[in-house]
Amino acid sequence: EEIEEMEKNAIIEWKKEARVESYGIKSKLSMQEQRESLPVYKSRNELLEAVRNNDFIVIVGETGSGKTTQITQYLAEDGYINSGIIACTQPRRVAAISVAKRVAEEVNCKVGDEVGYTIRFEDCTGPQTKIKYMTDGMLEREALTDPLMSRYSVIMLDEAHERTIATDILFALLRDIVIKRKGTLKLIVTSATLDSTKFSRYFNNCPVFHIQGRTFPVKIYYTKTPELDYIEATIDTIIDVHTNNPKGDILVFLTGREEIETCCEAIVQKMSVLYQSDPSLSELIVLPIYSAMPSEMQSRIFEPTPKGKRKVVIATNIAETSITIDGIYYVVDPGFVKVNAYDPKRGMDTLVVKPISRAQADQRSGRAGRTGPGICYRLYTKNAYLKEMPANTTPEILRQNLSHTILMLKAMGINDVLEFGFMDRPKEESLVKALEELYILEALDEDGKLTETGRCMAYFAVEPMLSKTLIKSFEFGCSYEVIEVIAMLTVPDVFYRPREKRDLADKMKQRFDDFNGDHLTLLNVYRKWEASGYSKDWCTDNFIQEKSMRKARDVKNQLIRLMEIVDKKEKGIQLSLVSCKNRLEQVRKAFVSGFFKNCAKRSSNHGHHDEEGVFRTLADNLAVYIHPSSSLFKIPGVDYVIYHTLVLTNKEYMHCTTKIDPSWLIQYASKVFRKTERGELSIAKKREKIQPLYDKFDQTGRWRLSRGRR
Ligand code: ADP
Ligand code: MG
Repeated sequence: EEIEEMEKNAIIEWKKEARVESYGIKSKLSMQEQRESLPVYKSRNELLEAVRNNDFIVIVGETGSGKTTQITQYLAEDGYINSGIIACTQPRRVAAISVAKRVAEEVNCKVGDEVGYTIRFEDCTGPQTKIKYMTDGMLEREALTDPLMSRYSVIMLDEAHERTIATDILFALLRDIVIKRKGTLKLIVTSATLDSTKFSRYFNNCPVFHIQGRTFPVKIYYTKTPELDYIEATIDTIIDVHTNNPKGDILVFLTGREEIETCCEAIVQKMSVLYQSDPSLSELIVLPIYSAMPSEMQSRIFEPTPKGKRKVVIATNIAETSITIDGIYYVVDPGFVKVNAYDPKRGMDTLVVKPISRAQADQRSGRAGRTGPGICYRLYTKNAYLKEMPANTTPEILRQNLSHTILMLKAMGINDVLEFGFMDRPKEESLVKALEELYILEALDEDGKLTETGRCMAYFAVEPMLSKTLIKSFEFGCSYEVIEVIAMLTVPDVFYRPREKRDLADKMKQRFDDFNGDHLTLLNVYRKWEASGYSKDWCTDNFIQEKSMRKARDVKNQLIRLMEIVDKKEKGIQLSLVSCKNRLEQVRKAFVSGFFKNCAKRSSNHGHHDEEGVFRTLADNLAVYIHPSSSLFKIPGVDYVIYHTLVLTNKEYMHCTTKIDPSWLIQYASKVFRKTERGELSIAKKREKIQPLYDKFDQTGRWRLSRGRR
């Protein structure tokens, strides 16, 4: 320990010196000088030559070396914009927006002119856009309408190491497209980790190009014993670094918005106490970053820290590789990440907080060594790092619900999903589960072929249960209302609940409550906002997040536009805007036709020793609860409900819950629910429910369904 202490001091001394040279200098460089100071600049010509000579290329380089912001510009300068658009995909929306803004600044144009971005429900590109940053999900969708990706001359699949489902699907699609395009489309796959041989092998043993990084050593500290409360430990570590270490900014990794906000508030509070007792203490600027955050706030994290102050950026794993913040000397890593995990047995998506992988831990600590030698505080033991963490992160495709993906593949005409060229093939179990889900939603027929409903569903960039609801809403005469509810469901929470005014905020929310459930409460908020003339003051007065509302209005308009396109294209289906006015029961019925799988019944205590207020899901008999923020909380006479999602905190809570009549299940989900002879509700046995599908197993045990019949 003594040695460690000495080492620590030596590092601190060393850093003081290194700091004199590097700290704050970057901001004084001109934009051109900044560009030329990035590691990738030295490889510019070699890299362009490699792209010229190869249709596929894998590029590996440390985070911050300039891959995302520079390579697109090099390609543009080298003439690739004459034959098409240069696309660069990002797994995260925030990253797509942030880099597009940065590159627009570098080429001195407005975002949306030569440089733009496209994310779900937001297209900030124009006819003159030549460099386009986009989420991988958006490019994947383009394959539906433009199977050869003919608008593009180069496609850069960035952050490939993240292995999102959309990137994985694009791998397979583009491997074929590039060959079909015979030299007129280049594919660049970039990754921040060294797992490049796998990528290279997949793309016909293409060359791997390494960008020499420039990194400084990072000293790593572990905790001696596991932390019981990692948030508390994080807060203490931040304060400790700020009060005891020489200057240099701090980067902290937490798992999500709520945690980040709690942590920010706690630090601001603790610091204000410390400033009082020690007026000479330098100011600590606290900056959060997570994906649902307004973009003006986001750009603040890039502003150089004022002299004599220190900033602490508290981020989700977005700051691991997709966003680089300069001037970070300290990293605090509690070792957790929130992932969307799918349990194919329960057929359910849940957000769960999990330990990160060793590769992620190394990425995180690496953030401290970009500007000078750094320190990383790992709030877990060395043993946990070595023995408990998995070496690599599991690709999303192996752990998530695939029904949305399978629907898209089917809509692209890829019928045989079992034979699709996945880089890592999902378990057959999850493929079958997804097919089953699409079948009970009537998106696929008994032969596994796309139905008319399914084809229409694929047009809407929302998950299948939502798109099914939307398609059905026309029959229920309430498409107008359903579109508004869906828009509200896809944006970040509209209810504003500041910590210090929580009670008042909750009272205000109650005034919007519809006692038939949260879907209608959301509709009510939207209608009232509309009636106020989309007023900002109205939002402020009612504790409503104006940003989310405006976003919802955008989504609504996008959905209406999409609907008009589908109405024109698909002859068999009529989609027109109809309002049910005050017959709001129709809206609830429409949601039953999409969300019958998420149905729960109040427990009658027979057989289980359930306490008051427990519901049991019909599909899996799981104990679930109405959330205290729900309009249905403590409302009597609620026996059957459907919910939007389950959120697991201390209990399994239903999120966005609506009361239904069980007879609707029999009427609108006849593939799953039956009426017994005594007129009661019965749920088709799993076997029975998907029997037509199981009949399709062939001799080898292979599910013929996936093959479809022509
Ligand atoms: P890589 O993709 O290799 O991780 P980037 O191209 O994202 O690297 O980043 C290169 C440099 O550009 C970094 O030093 C980073 O700080 C800077 N940068 C990127 N985005 C922004 C932004 N929005 N504002 C200011 N600087 C940025
Ligand atoms: Mg990048």
